[in-house]
Amino acid sequence: MPELPEVEVTRRSFADAIEGATVQAVRLGKPLRWPLGCVPETMVGRKVLSVGRRGKYLLISLNQGLLLVHLGMSGSLRFAPVLPAAGAHDHFDLVTSLGTLRLHDPRRFGAVVYVDSLNDVQALKLLGRLGPEPLADTFGVAQFQAQLRRHQSAIKSVLLAGEAVVGVGNIYASEALFMAGIRPTVRAARLSRPRAARLHAAIVQVLGQAVALGGSTLRDFSSASGQAGYFQLQTMVYGRAGLPCHVCANPVRLIKQGQRSTFYCPTCQKP
Ligand SMILES: [Zn+2]
Repeated sequence: MPELPEVEVTRRSFADAIEGATVQAVRLGKPLRWPLGCVPETMVGRKVLSVGRRGKYLLISLNQGLLLVHLGMSGSLRFAPVLPAAGAHDHFDLVTSLGTLRLHDPRRFGAVVYVDSLNDVQALKLLGRLGPEPLADTFGVAQFQAQLRRHQSAIKSVLLAGEAVVGVGNIYASEALFMAGIRPTVRAARLSRPRAARLHAAIVQVLGQAVALGGSTLRDFSSASGQAGYFQLQTMVYGRAGLPCHVCANPVRLIKQGQRSTFYCPTCQKP
């Protein structure tokens, strides 16, 4: 599943190239997770102003209205001057004067939603409750510590819930907790201030590194310019159950938390 770094890398891969383009046509394939929310033809003639991101949503701002794009479980975007005819898993084409932006999504949990503005009911529903952006300067330590104190559940689950910080998915939650030396099962509210501060720093570092590397090794990911498979994140614990910890050589452990796999080192990560 594309996580926040993949979405950010996708954004960077086409944001500049599509800026200023005029929409010439919109083509829909099979239904995605949510309906588009407008008659596709109404977008023809509008200009693409910019491509932003909030959590795992890409925000394609038009001179009137905007498109919210989510990659779901298996979605990927491509942007190129010319693309081949749409295949069975290509469910959205935004044809512009500078190229075509295409959503390829075999499992169709992704979505493209048109809204008039970010105050639109649907936009508020999708974006209104998202927590702070981990890669923004506004992601403050004090606020993060205060958020953790409000939650009695396991820190890993609290990270995934997206209220204390948005977009820290399963892979990066495991990696950040390892980096901070925190056992994933510790109750969020019980973390001391210094440990919460270490976790805050680890989240920023892990996600920043992943963006810098171009994301992680995710099977369905390809950047919008079509370069597949260059995400080569060296994970410390994620996906390494039973293998020796890179730091202490003890075996990495795998547990289930809320039906999600959690990887941790019982020696390096303290309860
Ligand atoms: Zn270890």
